[in-house]
Amino acid sequence: MSFPTHARHVVIGAGIHGLSTAWRLAERLRAAGKGSGADILVLDKSAIAAGASGIACGVVRNNYFQPAMRELMAHSVDVWETDPKGFSYHPVGYMQVSHEAMREDVTSIYEQQKEIGYPSEFIEGEKDCMTYMKGLLSDWRAEGVTSVLHEKKGGYANNTAAIYGLANKAEAQGVRIITGVTVTGFERGSNSDAVSAVVTDRGTIECDRVVVAVGPWVKTIWDMLDLPREVSIKGPDGRMHGGIPTWRYWCLEEGVIGVDPDLQKLNDGGMPPVIHVDTDAPLRSDVDGSVITEKPWGIYYKPDFQFDGVQGGAMPYEVKTPADDVGIDPYGPESPEFIVGGDFAHMWCSALAFCQERFSGQIGKFRKEPSGGLGCFTPDSFPVFDTFCENVHIIADSNHGFKMIGVGHLVADEIMGDKQALLEPFRFSRYAEGRLHPTSNSPFPWS
Ligand SMILES: Cc1cc2nc3c(=O)[nH]c(=O)nc-3n(C[C@H](O)[C@H](O)[C@H](O)COP(=O)(O)OP(=O)(O)OC[C@H]3O[C@@H](n4cnc5c(N)ncnc54)[C@H](O)[C@@H]3O)c2cc1C
Repeated sequence: MSFPTHARHVVIGAGIHGLSTAWRLAERLRAAGKGSGADILVLDKSAIAAGASGIACGVVRNNYFQPAMRELMAHSVDVWETDPKGFSYHPVGYMQVSHEAMREDVTSIYEQQKEIGYPSEFIEGEKDCMTYMKGLLSDWRAEGVTSVLHEKKGGYANNTAAIYGLANKAEAQGVRIITGVTVTGFERGSNSDAVSAVVTDRGTIECDRVVVAVGPWVKTIWDMLDLPREVSIKGPDGRMHGGIPTWRYWCLEEGVIGVDPDLQKLNDGGMPPVIHVDTDAPLRSDVDGSVITEKPWGIYYKPDFQFDGVQGGAMPYEVKTPADDVGIDPYGPESPEFIVGGDFAHMWCSALAFCQERFSGQIGKFRKEPSGGLGCFTPDSFPVFDTFCENVHIIADSNHGFKMIGVGHLVADEIMGDKQALLEPFRFSRYAEGRLHPTSNSPFPWS
């Protein structure tokens, strides 16, 4: 097939957001008698699932302190549940296990989950939490835990399998996905700011509309569109704080301990929920008992047959290099810089042993292959979903995104002319207007 010179809708990026948008938009166009998937072209510079979506841990949860995030996640969980097999989605549930400083935050999450009908159980008090956790996993031993929020929905999906599942759905609607094509610029109309064509290394494609879903590469496309490199944020005190970079990078640290995934089965033989633990208890080495940290720390983990072990991660670290100088490519495991090292293995495996006795002495099984990867973050670490330059829809999820399989649907609905209330709290104008999301006491930048 020859390289196209025109497409009504060009989607840049074949990850979770680009493919989810293409799938839903194709369905909506057909249903409205206004076109079909043949009007949509997805471009990717590498391959399907070549970005963050293809290396994500794949955790799907509702647990967020910010009400708007929770409502959005509940919508996405509904989309995951439409086809668990097709998305390789495992609805094992999710647990937020927390220390005292987070109890009030998590209590409010639980209360609001009840309000939106999201099923969860909440356990409070050190003794009751220990009893609850031991009732599920007999070797549980994490100290200093005073609340457990057990979400009965959510869980995780196998990363690449889920993205290929989405690609299949989009292609079944007639969407064309072309890989190995890099977007290098944009052409504008003579009298407007709107994009009239997408320039690529294989030719120029005229278009009516563009969807940008490029994950960690969002700053590159943002700069091509001449969008603001800095923002001013109106603080809670009403004062403007200027000169804040629009984008910064964090490195997400994840890895696999190569034990039999069945090792992490529940007392009753079932598969466990994804477990996330945040605590301020000192973390000691499982190797020599030395103190690793006395600051609050957090980890998450799950048995995963795709990774053939127990897979998970810990808090990310902020990349101090100025955003313009950060080398995003080669991405993920191929990166010479942004992969986990021995310190992560030591911390994460010791933390697993802190939580469950069965992981003690297992650090030698930590897989030494490269893992982890960069994420591009907004100023407040929450997503920006908005329309720029009249016809460019940008999905910048600030690294919450694998679980957000429903965002592409909402963006497609907006393209069809239906404004989506769930996306409103994530407009770019919130910074200047001071409509900020509340912040929690979690040690993670994304909770
Ligand atoms: C290690 C790690 C673990 C994570 N774990 C989780 C998790 O458990 N749960 C969760 O919800 N989120 C998780 N995330 C975040 C999540 O992976 C991302 O937020 C999400 O995958 C972003 O999806 P996307 O579709 O926007 O971008 P991506 O999946 O990154 O896809 C972007 C695509 O755009 C292409 N592209 C880039 N530039 C161009 C260009 N100029 N021209 C053409 N194509 C281009 C790339 O090749 C890539 O394929 C994790 C992230 C990382 C790094």
